[in-house]
Amino acid sequence: MSKKIRLIRKRRVCKIRGCEQILSIYNPEGYCHAHQQFAMTQSLPPQPVLKH
Ligand SMILES: [Zn+2]
Repeated sequence: MSKKIRLIRKRRVCKIRGCEQILSIYNPEGYCHAHQQFAMTQSLPPQPVLKH
């Protein structure tokens, strides 16, 4: 009797090429958790490279 409820209309994945991390429907950014910070740093001025 019970039909499957389609909550996920379209499966979204991370915008980063090669990254197939499935995004949460509550994630408006378009990047997975790992790449979200990466994407944020891209919009910021370049930071000095720390020497190890
Ligand atoms: Zn990603």
